[in-house]
Amino acid sequence: MATKSARTASYIEESEKYSAHNYHPLPVVLEKAERVWVWDVEGNKYMDCLSSYSAINQGHRHPKIIKALKDQADRLTLTSRGFYNDQMGPWLKLLCGLTGYEKALPMNTGAEAVETALKTARKWGQYVKGVPAGAQEIIVCANNFHGRTITIITFSSDAQTKDGFGPYTPGFVTIPYGDAKALEAAITKNTVAFLVEPIQGEAGVVVPPAGYLKACFDICKKHKVLLVADEVQTGFCRTGRWFACQHEDVRPDIMVLGKALGGGMYPVSAIVCDDHVMSVFKPGDHGSTFGGNPLAAAVSTAALEVLRDEKLDERAAELGGYFMDRLRAMKSPHVEGIRGKGLLIGMVIKSSSGKARPWCEKLMSHGILAKDTHEQVIRFAPALVITKEEVDWAVEKISETLR
Ligand SMILES: *Cc1c(COP(=O)(O)O)cnc(C)c1O
Repeated sequence: MATKSARTASYIEESEKYSAHNYHPLPVVLEKAERVWVWDVEGNKYMDCLSSYSAINQGHRHPKIIKALKDQADRLTLTSRGFYNDQMGPWLKLLCGLTGYEKALPMNTGAEAVETALKTARKWGQYVKGVPAGAQEIIVCANNFHGRTITIITFSSDAQTKDGFGPYTPGFVTIPYGDAKALEAAITKNTVAFLVEPIQGEAGVVVPPAGYLKACFDICKKHKVLLVADEVQTGFCRTGRWFACQHEDVRPDIMVLGKALGGGMYPVSAIVCDDHVMSVFKPGDHGSTFGGNPLAAAVSTAALEVLRDEKLDERAAELGGYFMDRLRAMKSPHVEGIRGKGLLIGMVIKSSSGKARPWCEKLMSHGILAKDTHEQVIRFAPALVITKEEVDWAVEKISETLR
C-alpha cells in the first residue's frame, strides 16, 4: 500500500513541478475509464460525478465514438478550412437538424464559441441593427461563467478571475441573474445582445425562477436584441432536454455549444443560429485552423448520434429527478438544499458544516469523485448513461459520507 500511494504522490509531484498552478485538483491520479467509472493508478475505482464539467454526457470512451475516432484517424485528420473535407458538411447538417437552426460555425473550445457569438452579435448589431461602429453593447449576468479569454473575463464577477489581466474589453453591461426586469432596464438603443446561461453551472448550479428565460426572450424580441444562450454546460441532454432553454420553449437567436459536442474525446464547439444572423460573416472575417476539422466532425457526429439514439435526454430527466428526490430524502443536517435540473445537480452544504471542498475529499475516500463549485456547492453530474442501480449506489455512498 505504501509503495502504491508513493506512485500517486510522484505523479502529483511531477505535475505540480512542471505545470502552471492554475488548478487545484483532488489528489487522485486517473489512468483508465469506462462509462461512469474511472480508475486511479492504484487500481481504486470511483464514480465520476463531474464528467469533466459535463463534457462526458455520453460516458467515458463510448464504443461508437471511439470507433468513429479511430476510423477517421486512419483516413484524414486535418485539412484546415483552406480546403473542404467530406466530414464537416454531414456533421453540421446533423447538428443543425438536431438543434433546429439553419447554420453552424464550428470552433474547438467553449470559450472560442462564446467569442464567436460575441463577434457575431457585434457585427450583426452594426450591419443589421444599425448601431454605430464601436458603440455595440452586450448585456451579461452577474456570477456568469463563459470561459477564460481576456474579453470573457472582462465581464466576470469573480475578482480572482480578472485580477492582473487588465486592461479589459469595453462594451459589456452586467445585470443580476434571474431578474428579467433588470434586463429591460439595461437595454439601450446600442444593445445588440443578451448573453445568458439557462442554468448557471459554475456559479453553483443556480436555476433561475420559472419563466425567466421566456420573459428575457420576449424582452429581447421587443427591443431587437439577440438572445444568446450559453448551453456549453447545460446542452446536449444534461438537464433532461436537448437544451435547457427548451424547458421554457425558448429558441434563442444564437446557441453556444461545446463540451459534450465532442463526446468527451475531442475538443469541439460551435455556435448555431439562423442565416439572417450568420450571414454577417464573409470569407476572412473569422476562423480557426482546427475548427471543423474532419476528426472533430467524425467524433462529434458519433457523439450526437449516441445522445439521439440512446435518448439520453429522457434518461437524464428520469434519473435526474430520481437522484434529486433521493438526495432530498436524506435530510442530512449538513445539507442546506438540493437544486438543479436533470442530471445537473447541486448540493448546497450549510456554512456551519464547512466548505464543500473537504466534503469532496471525503466523498473521494467513499468512491465518488465530485468537485466543489462556488465554495458551498458540490456538483453531481454523472454521465447520462448512468443506470438507476448506479444512482442508488451513489446515493448510498453520499449518505455514508455525510453520516
Ligand atoms: C466550460 C464552459 C465554457 C468554456 O468552455 P471551455 O471549453 O473550457 O473554453 C463556457 N461556458 C460555459 C457555460 C461553460 O460551462
